[in-house]
Amino acid sequence: MCPNGSLGRGGMSFIPHIYALHICTSALIRTSAHLHILSAHPHIYYFCFMTKKVRVRFAPSPTGGLHLGGVRTVLFNYLFAKQHGGDFILRIEDTDQNRFVAGAEQYIIDCLNWCGLNPDEGPHIGGPFAPYRQSERKDTYRQHAEQLVHDGHAYYAFDTTGELDAMREKFKSESDPQPQYNFFHRNQMRNSFTMGNDEVRQLLMEQPYVIRIKMPQEEQVSFTDMIRGEVSFSSNTIDDKVLLKADGMPTYHLAVVVDDYLMKITHAFRGEEWLPSSPVHILLWKYLGWQTEMPQWAHLPLILKPDGHGKLSKRDGDKLGFPVFAMDWKDPESGELISGFKEKGFLPEAFVNMLALLGWNDGSEQEIFNISELTEKFSIERVHKGGARFDFEKAKWFNHEWIKKQPVQDWQLTVKKDFEDKGISITDELSFIKVLELVKDRCTLLTDFHDQSWFFFKAPETLDLAAIKPKWNEAKKQFFLEFEEVVGALQDAESATIESAFKDLAAAYNIKAGDLLLPFRIMLVGAKFGPPVFDIAAAIGVAQTIERINYALNHFE
Ligand code: GLU
Repeated sequence: MCPNGSLGRGGMSFIPHIYALHICTSALIRTSAHLHILSAHPHIYYFCFMTKKVRVRFAPSPTGGLHLGGVRTVLFNYLFAKQHGGDFILRIEDTDQNRFVAGAEQYIIDCLNWCGLNPDEGPHIGGPFAPYRQSERKDTYRQHAEQLVHDGHAYYAFDTTGELDAMREKFKSESDPQPQYNFFHRNQMRNSFTMGNDEVRQLLMEQPYVIRIKMPQEEQVSFTDMIRGEVSFSSNTIDDKVLLKADGMPTYHLAVVVDDYLMKITHAFRGEEWLPSSPVHILLWKYLGWQTEMPQWAHLPLILKPDGHGKLSKRDGDKLGFPVFAMDWKDPESGELISGFKEKGFLPEAFVNMLALLGWNDGSEQEIFNISELTEKFSIERVHKGGARFDFEKAKWFNHEWIKKQPVQDWQLTVKKDFEDKGISITDELSFIKVLELVKDRCTLLTDFHDQSWFFFKAPETLDLAAIKPKWNEAKKQFFLEFEEVVGALQDAESATIESAFKDLAAAYNIKAGDLLLPFRIMLVGAKFGPPVFDIAAAIGVAQTIERINYALNHFE
């Protein structure tokens, strides 16, 4: 169904775009360099005979934090664009002034940057179709709304909030508990259908008004979704949506269509929650005379709560103990902080990899993909229709795999900052890297590194005495007193050298080396965890090892 699955891979910069040539035939059509079969419906083959540069967009409203579902939408758009040598555009849909939140736009840009999914055009970098903020394109929309009125596809409505409420009250019934402003009720409201031209002209100058789309009656509005196939809606179920608001701003429905057209968007991948709006958009494309330019739609499946019941909402995360936003988001008004994957200790590569697999796979068992592999292998046809259940444990698994896979240098600075925030300053980068290498197998999140390795940089103050007390004795004490001297006299302080000195001395004392390892670990770490104890001794050095043994022996007394 998707036209692009077999085309445009391997660096082609243009892919053919569906044009309105439909031929009814059941015969197989041969493809050639200039003519490709794009989509096979029963007896309908779509051909393309024109090429168009792929242009996709992410069009968030700057109303708060960026949900992981939003980042996945970005990712699928981005992968598709890059796969086809196309452009990925960021457009800020800020026409709803009531929901505008200061700082949200910059936050979205920062999130995309952290994920490495940077747009080719956007409000922060400009581009040939600027401005990329809808509030700055206000004048563009009105002319299209007026054109729709002129062509009979939209109308002026003067109803006040009180009148709208009264209408809903009046027509409320058991079968229709929430009456809509639609083909049935519009005839009884104050609008350019029910009023004479003179009165309308007068009111336009005197009163606030909106422009509403005139939804047709008894019409099936259908389109082919790249994931869902044929999708069809009855126009009767949809109200006469407001297109232009009383404040002169367009609503989302008008702005999204006008901008997708003006910005030459070829494919629009967005969340499933927008599917019910699609018939309004399809009709607007048709009414504005742009039908042949309409992008291909793909409505991405929802991301579900871990138990599979319902959409994963921004509130779920902190409630269930995991982040839902890409990065920490602090609401500028309430001051409320909603946590993000970045600050939780995720690598962007792992976050992106995990998101790609939420609703998509390449058909193999492979789970770890870097961005170039994803770009090569992604195909919108393999995105599932059903919702994808979010699993935080699996997300952590991805992060662990990426921590092991990525060179330490790639995330060393992030971990260093975490150490510094927690009161440990790192002065020797080389030994820091060695320590990170030593403990990385034990770390699932970047924030785990501090807990897994702080003792390399700071002697423990408290010691888990309870762990060794029952088996502590004079012979062991003598062993460690002598071991201090042995270590002090070693030619080199490599892990293996310390280990063999330790074992030789244990043999001389006739104590099983294994019985001495736990006390030694408690001396160096303070507790029963950490990488091999001789690696720790080697890393902290001879002087520090002796000092910690001494400190501990004093406490064991
Ligand atoms: N402004 C919409 C949003 O906030 C965009 C939906 C679309 O991509 O059409 O998600």
